[in-house]
Amino acid sequence: MNSSADTPGASGPLEATLASERERAVTVFQGIQDEAELRRVRATFLGGKGSIKDLMKQIPSVEKERRKEMGRSINALKQWVEQQFDTALAALHHARLEQALGASVDITWPGRTPATGALHPLTQVTQELVDVFSTLGFDVAEGPQVDLYEYNFDKLAFPPDHPATDMQDSFFVRTDAPKTLLRTHTSTIQVREMLSRKPPLAIVSPGAVYRRDDDVTHSPMFMQLEGLWVDKKVSFTHLRGVLDAFAQSFFGPEVGVRLRPSYFPFVEPGAEVDIACIFCKPWERNAKRTAQCRICKGSGWLEILGCGMVHPEVFEHVGYDPEQYSGFAFGLGIDRIAMLRYQITDIRLLYENDVRFLEQF
Ligand SMILES: [Zn+2]
Repeated sequence: MNSSADTPGASGPLEATLASERERAVTVFQGIQDEAELRRVRATFLGGKGSIKDLMKQIPSVEKERRKEMGRSINALKQWVEQQFDTALAALHHARLEQALGASVDITWPGRTPATGALHPLTQVTQELVDVFSTLGFDVAEGPQVDLYEYNFDKLAFPPDHPATDMQDSFFVRTDAPKTLLRTHTSTIQVREMLSRKPPLAIVSPGAVYRRDDDVTHSPMFMQLEGLWVDKKVSFTHLRGVLDAFAQSFFGPEVGVRLRPSYFPFVEPGAEVDIACIFCKPWERNAKRTAQCRICKGSGWLEILGCGMVHPEVFEHVGYDPEQYSGFAFGLGIDRIAMLRYQITDIRLLYENDVRFLEQF
């Protein structure tokens, strides 16, 4: 293509056309975003009515000795156009692929970790509680959430006029079967276990229970864990020992336990159980800190469960001989333990299942 014959104006109009077409081919394919347009432009050179065909037709009009050279020049132009077209087409395909793949990928960036789920805080606390009591020799027992009124109240020696038995305080279930309700405590599991097993037995029963309460510290559904130990010669000191062992392994070795007399229909005697406040740590004897503690309100104690020696009447209802056997029972709110542990002030957060809340645990 460097021969003087290609220089415009060096000889006739054929050479001039050849040179201008070559120049046109350099730029005309650039920036075309559409393949059909690209092919249309190519046809203006190489098509049946294209400029190269036209040039070929004019060869016979050139002087005989220059025809061969002209033929080579036109062929070179043809190859040049093909090359420009191929390059533009490849660029167009590449751009389209890039667009389909989105932004270019830098494979040296660290990968994205998939979001993994976690156990709900109540499940975590339940599992820890069960671990502690399993170590102390308790089995885990479960039961239905819809249960008989008889198991929920009568067998547990609730007097018929006890406020908990009132229609306003429990969720009753309409059924043709005997009086049925959503259990108000997991004590129904204890009744079922005692009816189906002979002593000795030691069980803990975690699960959801239902009461008609709804405010920042009460939810209509909440979680309880109750424990029961029945054997010959089980005494209040065994109960105290189990409570101490539980408090120390769950909350920490310094955490002491205090019992206050209380009343529950199914135990005699009954007691409320407090643990030393795990926030102001009264065992460190920082009286000022305890006085200012908002969690225990300055008392140094946190109420966590209720307990007592199983009432002889309960044993009679399930066919155990109260002369031969004795036992203790305790019950705690898993929600209350979780709220203390994580300093949650509204129980409803535990049941709304907002991921922003749950992923903190
Ligand atoms: Zn405190």
